[in-house]
Amino acid sequence: MRRPYAGISPAARPSADELRHTCLVDADIVVVGAGALGLSTALHCTLAGRSVVVLERLTAGSQVSGRAAGLFKSVQADELRTRLARRSIEKVIGFAGWAGVPLEVARSGSFLIARTAQHREFLRRELAQSVNWGADVREASPVQLASRLSYYRAAGDEFALWCREDVYIEEPASLVRAYLDACRLLGTVVLENEPVVGISAKDGRVAGVETDHRSIAAPAVVDAAGGWVRQVAGLASARVPVAPVRHQLLITAQVPEVDHSDPIIRVVDAAVYLRPDTRGLCRWCA
Ligand SMILES: Cc1cc2nc3c(=O)[nH]c(=O)nc-3n(C[C@H](O)[C@H](O)[C@H](O)COP(=O)(O)OP(=O)(O)OC[C@H]3O[C@@H](n4cnc5c(N)ncnc54)[C@H](O)[C@@H]3O)c2cc1C
Repeated sequence: MRRPYAGISPAARPSADELRHTCLVDADIVVVGAGALGLSTALHCTLAGRSVVVLERLTAGSQVSGRAAGLFKSVQADELRTRLARRSIEKVIGFAGWAGVPLEVARSGSFLIARTAQHREFLRRELAQSVNWGADVREASPVQLASRLSYYRAAGDEFALWCREDVYIEEPASLVRAYLDACRLLGTVVLENEPVVGISAKDGRVAGVETDHRSIAAPAVVDAAGGWVRQVAGLASARVPVAPVRHQLLITAQVPEVDHSDPIIRVVDAAVYLRPDTRGLCRWCA
């Protein structure tokens, strides 16, 4: 395993700017894309003792990760995703402890709400399987629904679930910033405004990446290019059958009636979810 910075304190390691001048970068792992996924991968690999270089076409978190709604949801469609989702909630709540950088998280919990017979049935199934997979989910009474929410008027015939573990990050860009700070603190090299334009291979294995400024030799390259994951994979003649789709996020003007400590709600039959936002009410539609 190559460790170009082994034994060198983070402060003494070359900065991103210095690396631009030396053109002598070598790493255990190159991560393509500095969104939440790329930075999380880079941070975990760095914590595992690997030397990591992240290459970002634009600036860190400037694409989807900085524009999300910031919600974490414990109820998922299968057991693996439930375990991953619950683990990520645990990780984000304890971020300062393991990553060494503070991160504010709203531990609001969430309600899942169904208003049609078909969706009531759907939520009953989700309740049974989620409880089976360890999630802290329970049926919520109409009284609970009415008393806990300032921004949803219950009709009284909803079927609702209370998901105690669910959290959100008020400003999703803060998650990216926290990852970036933690990465830099530990010596991960993050190079911005530097798109990967080629992926080199030797004997059928990845050997590194090319940018307009440099070649970086690395035995592992992680494609974390989000909506561009297919194009980046294409640089290595690999096919990733993924097609990005657009979603809408709407943040209303301030609504004085909204209690900022309210939980998240997800109205499953309308494919809409809402949460309080310091600027107003954040609403997301599929
Ligand atoms: C409106 C909206 C709301 C959402 N709300 C939620 C939510 O509440 N909860 C949730 O869990 N998820 C939510 N999501 C989904 C979530 O935001 C994304 O799944 C996640 O941010 C994807 O992260 P990423 O790192 O894969 O992608 P990105 O953040 O897009 O990062 C990919 C990076 O790769 C870079 N890149 C691309 N090509 C190259 C190249 N050739 N070289 C170098 N860099 C390259 C890009 O510039 C980009 O910065 C939401 C999405 C949207 C659109």
